[in-house]
Amino acid sequence: MKVAVLVKQVPRTDKIKIDKESGTLIRKGVESILNPYCEYGLDLAVSLKKKYGIIEEITAFTMGPPGAELVLRRSIALGADKGVLLSDKAFSGADCWATAYTLSCGLKTMGNPKLIICGKQAIDGDTAQVPGEISEISGMPVLPYVLDILELTEEKIVVVSEFENGTVTLETSLPAVVTVGSGSNIRRIPSVNDVLKAYESEIVVLDKTKAGCNDTDIGLKGSPTRVVKIEPAFSKGDCEMFDDGNFNEGFEKIKVFLMENNDEEN
Ligand SMILES: Cc1cc2nc3c(=O)[nH]c(=O)nc-3n(C[C@H](O)[C@H](O)[C@H](O)COP(=O)(O)OP(=O)(O)OC[C@H]3O[C@@H](n4cnc5c(N)ncnc54)[C@H](O)[C@@H]3O)c2cc1C
Repeated sequence: MKVAVLVKQVPRTDKIKIDKESGTLIRKGVESILNPYCEYGLDLAVSLKKKYGIIEEITAFTMGPPGAELVLRRSIALGADKGVLLSDKAFSGADCWATAYTLSCGLKTMGNPKLIICGKQAIDGDTAQVPGEISEISGMPVLPYVLDILELTEEKIVVVSEFENGTVTLETSLPAVVTVGSGSNIRRIPSVNDVLKAYESEIVVLDKTKAGCNDTDIGLKGSPTRVVKIEPAFSKGDCEMFDDGNFNEGFEKIKVFLMENNDEEN
């Protein structure tokens, strides 16, 4: 069975700045990392490969500029067997739908993996739309917020998913998309050998022609949404600072505050 893990390159969120004129993220000079939820997805794929003898190959896919190949190399260092980069100037300006379409084309070109593992969301765009849209475009079910996989065969998958008030066990036939949330797996540090192997690995690059994309469904042309305005979120609310430089006094003040405001609404 072929397994795909969709990995996204994201800027470190604590360093995000927004261009006030264009309303877009300033990516220049900002360190890029592998989206942490995608890293959980990779860990899940690797642990499934170890547990079930039916997985022959894990392929990491990303759509992005040429530099996004770095997240594919990191994915290979973390256990993926190969990396596929969907990259073409014509993909730029893609919204979630056009991104999902382009990734779906890449999955088809690379032989339609039976299990597609995504992060539950990207920490920059944060929409959590792409996995559901891939499931819609490719006509396969999506199992969201997966914590654990109880059973995996060539035909079906049984998972435990996390919802607001607890967990639920879900089963579906394959092919299927799953999304992985926090706490699913233990993150690992790749060995030096794994990192060296990753940097020597060949990355498959698919442009719009190789991926078999329709011109009208990619990039800005294929994007039904437009970003009208984007602003950083500021935390609001009353804030009282206990800045007396004395830990014990500050602690006592916070304790008294919490005791006085200790009702269910607070
Ligand atoms: C009108 C418009 C124009 C845009 N133009 C640009 C642009 O020019 N350049 C740009 O960088 N962004 C652009 N974006 C943002 C871009 O569309 C989103 O970053 C992208 O669709 C993914 O959405 P998200 O970050 O919310 O991912 P989510 O849906 O939150 O991601 C969930 C999971 O889906 C998978 N996934 C998501 N995106 C990718 C990817 N690219 N590769 C592999 N896996 C992925 C990952 O597994 C991820 O964990 C634009 C958005 C809009 C609305």
